[in-house]
Parts: sequence; structure tokens; C-alpha cells
Amino acid sequence: MKNKVYVYLFEEGKAGMKSLLGGKGANLAEMTNIGLPVPPGLTITTEACNEYFRKNREFPEGMEELLWQKLKAIEEKTGKIFGDPQNPLLVSVRSGAVVSMPGMMDTILNLGLNDETVEGLAQSTQNRRFALDCYRRFIQMFSDVVLGVEHFQFETALEKKKHELGVEQDQDLTPEALAQLIKEYKTIVKRAVGQEFPGDPKTQLLMAVRAVFNSWHNPRAEVYRRINKIPADLGTAVNVQSMVFGNMGNDSGTGVAFTRNPSNGERVLYGEYLINAQGEDVVAGIRTPQPIQKLEEDLPQVYEQFVNICRLLENHYRDMQDIEFTIERGKLYMLQTRNGKRTAHAAIKIAVDMVEEGLITREEAISRIDPASLDQLLHRRIDTSAKLNVIAKGLPASPGAASGQVVFDADKAEALGKEGKKVILVRTETTPDDIHGIVMAQGILTSRGGMTSHAAVVARGMGKCCVCGCESLKIDYEGKTARVDDIVIKEHDIISLDGSTGAVMLGEVKLIDPELSGEFQKLLTWADEIRVLGVRANADNPQDAAKAREFGAKGIGLCRTEHMFMAPDRIPIVQEMIMAETYPEREKALEKLLPMQEEDFYGILKVMSGYPVTIRLLDPPLHEFLPNIEELVVEITQLKMNNGDPEELSKLENILRKARTLHEFNPMLGHRGCRLGISYPEIYRMQARAIFQAVVRLTREGFKVIPEVEIPLVIDKNELAILRRDVEEVAQEVMKETGLKFEYTVGTMIELPRACLTAGEIAEVADFFAFGTNDLTQTTLGFSRDDAEGKFMNHYLEKKILTSNPFIVLDREGVGKLMELAVKGGREKKPGFKVGICGEHGGEPSSIEFCHLLNLDYVSCSPFRVPIARLAAAQAKI
Ligand code: ADP
Ligand code: MG
Ligand code: MG
Repeated sequence: MKNKVYVYLFEEGKAGMKSLLGGKGANLAEMTNIGLPVPPGLTITTEACNEYFRKNREFPEGMEELLWQKLKAIEEKTGKIFGDPQNPLLVSVRSGAVVSMPGMMDTILNLGLNDETVEGLAQSTQNRRFALDCYRRFIQMFSDVVLGVEHFQFETALEKKKHELGVEQDQDLTPEALAQLIKEYKTIVKRAVGQEFPGDPKTQLLMAVRAVFNSWHNPRAEVYRRINKIPADLGTAVNVQSMVFGNMGNDSGTGVAFTRNPSNGERVLYGEYLINAQGEDVVAGIRTPQPIQKLEEDLPQVYEQFVNICRLLENHYRDMQDIEFTIERGKLYMLQTRNGKRTAHAAIKIAVDMVEEGLITREEAISRIDPASLDQLLHRRIDTSAKLNVIAKGLPASPGAASGQVVFDADKAEALGKEGKKVILVRTETTPDDIHGIVMAQGILTSRGGMTSHAAVVARGMGKCCVCGCESLKIDYEGKTARVDDIVIKEHDIISLDGSTGAVMLGEVKLIDPELSGEFQKLLTWADEIRVLGVRANADNPQDAAKAREFGAKGIGLCRTEHMFMAPDRIPIVQEMIMAETYPEREKALEKLLPMQEEDFYGILKVMSGYPVTIRLLDPPLHEFLPNIEELVVEITQLKMNNGDPEELSKLENILRKARTLHEFNPMLGHRGCRLGISYPEIYRMQARAIFQAVVRLTREGFKVIPEVEIPLVIDKNELAILRRDVEEVAQEVMKETGLKFEYTVGTMIELPRACLTAGEIAEVADFFAFGTNDLTQTTLGFSRDDAEGKFMNHYLEKKILTSNPFIVLDREGVGKLMELAVKGGREKKPGFKVGICGEHGGEPSSIEFCHLLNLDYVSCSPFRVPIARLAAAQAKI
């Protein structure tokens, strides 16, 4: 068997080899091959990494030899020699996972330096200060990443040195000071690890490669993988690349840029750079960088070349790119490119613009948007017309709004977040070690760092609001306070952030409903042209129905009537109805409810005129409308003790008696749904009459209304036949009374396994089915949702018994099978029989795909999820 090739030169790879070379390596290869200025380098494959772990952390056979052999090729190309005391080749060692994991694993720069090669570098560059600066950076990075020496020890030594010499900036340290610092650094290393800092470049390189491999399993990386559901067995590649230097003076620098604005999608180059700086200086937020456009003044030729390369890369990858570059003495080098992370808002704008620029197709545009990410856009925003107490402005790094208590460290953010508190994490800058706190925070505020700083990138990736580089904010970690001029913010004070403007506000702010941008509308219209699945909304009142229409719903798939019963002015009448001992008494209460219900239906049907509205008759058990038994007992006892009104007392005692009789051991499986209609036909008849009277009025007013009466919780054809007859009788009565003929249909919710199994028969007396997958999931799995999610669902997910929460993602293997049976049953009896879904699954992308595959007519979801459903339905078709 031929040995595996564990090492590739950049020119031997290409973009399609991501799984072998990692994202960074594959794109460096691609850039090399399309002729861009990439410093020569090589990539050690992910296979080598996986083999390394399989062999108990030993390098796979042949890897080292191949590494030295390919390094020779790099030496030839650069004209420098690794470890050579006169003309040393220095390299960076960079990790590169298959899926980009920003900031998750550390890069080592300037590797290959030691006491001799540093002199060679000083000689060959005629710049001793620079060479020493590289060396001290290298010792610090290598010791931190590879040897595990805490970097603050070096920072402290550096600060002390600057203080001694009375200088502010790192660049102001003299060569002598740097040389002393290097000595001190080595002492720190020796003290910490009990060994000399390794001087041999080959040893350095092998140690670094090993460290990159090992970092695949560091806690930061594991957290990131867990949050982003990245498999743990992909492994990381290692890129070894000849160094170029952005820290060689004022004609050198380093930066990062997006080819379009990752926050709002605008088609402008968007980035930052620092003159005379190296590597991570920009992202680490140590100095606040310059906007990329300023490079046109500093180095006009380089800027022009850079702009051209950005355009070229965008056309080549047909997507927005996130680019890292370095300028060494006026010469531009490309160090990385990848598809840039962006907010949902930007993703939509970029996709739509790219279709219009002729770069991608409409289908591609639609496929590129993650429907779940739209949630961000459909969230509420800050009402800027309200009075806002803005105390500071930072950079608008990640849009959205957030209010919460201030906390100054990630552990605290995590702890409070877990208690369900809303927190804003406030830091000078964030690092990958803060990730657990960022996850739990509502928003992030930093005082340093630009739009590409760690906080900004991570927040955008999570769709979380972030304001960064808020320089007027002075944070005192020890005192747990922050101040802006004379305003002091203490831990636990409430502040608000606006990630779209960068505003920082004291106190909580008012939020308003979102609107769909022009591009968003356009994308959704394209989606509508592609999809075959209809999209309706679940709405119980005219406001929600109006919102649903605005978001593009073509009808209501579920209008629940119980919420109408709960209104404060109705509950006493509803209770009167429940307390009724005789039929006439109940009729009297129902008569009072009738006009109220009629108004409800009138409002909703009117807003949705032209589209079907499925109205579900009363579903919950009656005791839900009575006060809680324990509370009643307390109230009665108090009344008795205070010698309260005897009439009130006897009324409460009556209610208590009734509540006790209605008490159920298992309400979910109790006296509810159509079982109420069977026991008390007059309730459903009243509801049917309210619907039909509203229909008559609206028809007379010239509205086209399409009512669909839906009977819940049916298990059998006979059950539905009886209730259907009731509804039809009422319809006949109303038609006779008003002299107006109107159309309506009667169907049922399919939400119990027996209904799925006997769907063929049920369809004989139904005009439509709508899956109620919340109950169908509960009854198919035998899980009560509230108990499962509160108590044991986590264990089922952790132990991988279930791959996802079946109340969120439709369980295709179980519930899905029953649905398939029901669809088949219904449509065999009546070809083209209408079937929809109105459970919460109707708004969840993977469940929507399943509904598409089942050939359902429509999905119905909450109004705010309608755009998500429209997009997901189109993706299911593509
Ligand atoms: P990350 O994945 O965290 O972005 P990178 O491997 O991209 O890490 O390295 C971070 C930064 O280090 C780069 O953006 C670049 O500025 C610098 N860097 C990496 N390799 C080189 C190199 N060969 N020459 C100069 N700078 C480099
Ligand atoms: Mg890094
Ligand atoms: Mg990078």
C-alpha cells in the first residue's frame, strides 16, 4: 500500500481539498495557484492529525521526513534557510480546521529564531531592533502556546521594562532593552518549565506542530465545537508558512478586511489595519486600528493592488471574503481568505446583490441563507423615537438590541445567565477564554478593539448584539466598576446596547417590532416563486393575523379559541357556563358569550379576507378556566378568618367544589378537545354559530371569507360524524335565519396516533386534516412536554438516545411515520385531500423539509416565523 501523503506544498493543493488541508490550507493553496502573492508554505494534513491521535500522540510514519523535504522547497523559493545563522528562514505555524474556527487555536509567528539566527536576521534586514522584537514575540508566543507558560508573566516583564525606560509604546523600546527583555523572558520560561527555551529550530517546529494537533482537544476548541455542532473527529491541519513582516517600519503593516460590510452587507471594502505591526495585533485589540480606506493615503499603490485582489477573490469564490494580509516594506502579501461570517441582515443583502450583479443564481441566493438566522431580523429593535439615555458610543459591531445587568467577567456572566438573568458582558477586550460567558450574555460591550476584534467576530457569529471599541469607557476590574467621564456603572446596574448604532444606554430601553427590508422582501418573493408548500400562520386575534399577512402568510392554519375565553371580561361568563348545573343555565351563559365570539371571528376573518382561516373549536379541559384549587383554598380561608362577605364565600366554595369535580389526573389525556363537544354539544354549537354569523355579516359587507371549522383531538370517524352534523345543523339554521348561503368546510386536527391509523375512515367525514404535531409528539412518544423538557429531555440528548428534541425538530422516524400513514389514508379515500400542519414544527426548517417531502399542502407557524417558513419551503424544493 502506498504511504499516505501527509504534507502538501501550497502549490500542490486547491480549494476543493478542505477536508484534507483544512479551510485555511486549502484556500492558501487556491490563492497560490491563482497567482496571488502568498508567502510560500506547506500544509500538514488533517489525516496526519487524526493518525497522531490514533497513535496515542505520536507523529505518523513518514510525516517528519516529508516535512523536511517540502521545507527544502520553501527554502529554495524564498532563498532563505531554516536555522541558518546568516540568512534564516522564519515560519509561522498556523492551525487550520476544516470548518473555520476563528480564534480557537493559536498561531505561532517567527519560528526558527534563536540566539544565532536572530543576529542573522538583524544583519540581513539591517534592522536589529526589528529582529529582537520578533525574537521576543516568538519566545512569548511559543512559550504560551507550546510550553503553557502564562502570558501575563511576559506582559508584566514588558510593562516593567517600558516603565523603567519611561516609554509608552512597545515600538519605543531600544534594541538594548529588547535584548535584556529576551534574557528575562528566557528566565521566566526556565523558572516555569524547568528547562531552557528550545533553541534548535527543527525541535521548535516539531514541538509547534504537536501543539497545534493537541490544541484540537483544548477546552476552548471543544466548547466552540459543541456550540456549533462540529464533529470532534475532523482533526486540524497545520500550516507552516514562510514569514513576512508587517513590523519592519512605516511602510509595513498588517490587517484584515471583508470584501463587503459583514454587519449590513453594503458593497464596500470593510476592514482595518495597523502600520508597523505584526500578526494578531489587529484582532487582539491592543491598539485600535485604522479603517482600511486610510491605506489609500498611507500606501496608495498597495491599496489599489489590494482592492483589485479583493474583487478578484470575490469573483473567484462567488461569495463575500474575509481576508488577512500583511505588507512588508511596501509589498503586499495575502495570508488568508475565507467566506466571511456575516449577520443575517448582511447575508440577505449580499445574496440579493450578488444575484443582481449576475454572480450567483436566485436558487443559490436562497440556499445560502440559514432560515434559523432570520430569527435575528424578526426580533424586536430599539425604539429610537423613545427617550434614550445614551452615555457612550462604540463601534456597531453586531446588530440587535440588548438590555441586562452589567458583569465584568465571563464566569459571572455564565453563572447569572444560567439563573435566567439577563446580563451584558463588559470587558476591555474579549479572548477565546471568555467564550462561555459570551454564550450566556445578551450582549457584549468592549472598550478596545475594532470591528474585527474577537468580541465582534464571535458576537456576529452567534447573532448576538455587540458594541466594541467604546474608548470612553474606562473599566476597573478590581473595583468592579466602569466609568464614562463622571458616570459610574457598577456591577449589576442595568444598561442597554444598540449593536446597529454602537450606542450604550443607561437603564432598560423600549423595543419595537421589526420590518422586512427591501432585499429581504425580494428574497422571499423569489422563495415564493420556487416553493410548492403553502405557508399560513397561527393567529388568535386580528393584530397577529395582520402581522402574519404582512409577513406573507396566505391564511391562518390555526386560530385557537381558548385564548378568547381567557380575556378578563369573559372569564366570569365562562365560569358561569362551567358552573351551570342545568342545560338552560348553561345556554344562558353561552348566549352571553355568543356575541363576543362573533366579534372575535369577525375581526380575524376580515383581516384574512381572501384567504382560508382554520378555526379550532374549544380544546382545553374546562378546569383551566377555573382558579387554581390551592389558591382558592387560601382565599376561602382568608375570607373566613376575616369574617368576609358570606355571599362571596359561598360563591368561592361552589367554585372550589366544581374545580374539585373537574380535577383530572392527567389533563392532557382528559376531558378535552372534541370530547367536550360530545359531552356539551351546546358549546361547540355556540362557537359554530358565532363563526357563521360573522361570515354572514362579512359576506354582506363584500368580503370574501373562507372559514374552515376544525374539530380537535378526534380519534374516530363516528366522533367526527356526530360533531360535523352539529356544525352543519347550525350552518343550516344560520342560512335559514339570514337567507344567505355561504361556503364553509369542516375538518379535523390529527393529533393522536389512533387518528393517524384510522385516517382513511376519518377522511370520509372530513374536508381537511391539519396535523397538531405538538400533541401527536406527546402521545406518540408518551412524553408530556412540560415534564420531559424540565426533567429528562437533556439526558436523552446527552446520551444520544434522541438526536434532537422532538418537540422542536419533528421526529421523522416515529411521528413522521404516523403522519405518512395519515396522509396516505386520507388521500387514498379522497385524491388531492387537503392536509396541513399547525404544530410548532411548522416553523422549523428541517420539519418543513419533511412536510414538503410528505407533499403537505401547507405549514402554519407563528407570524414571526412566516418568513423563515417561506424560505425553508423554497430550500426544501431546491
Ligand atoms: P487565526 O486562525 O486565529 O486567524 P492565523 O493562522 O490566521 O490565525 O494567524 C493569525 C495572524 O498571524 C494572521 O492574520 C497574520 O497576521 C499572522 N500571520 C500568520 N502567518 C503569517 C506569516 N507567514 N507571515 C506574517 N504574518 C503571519
Ligand atoms: Mg488565533
Ligand atoms: Mg486568520
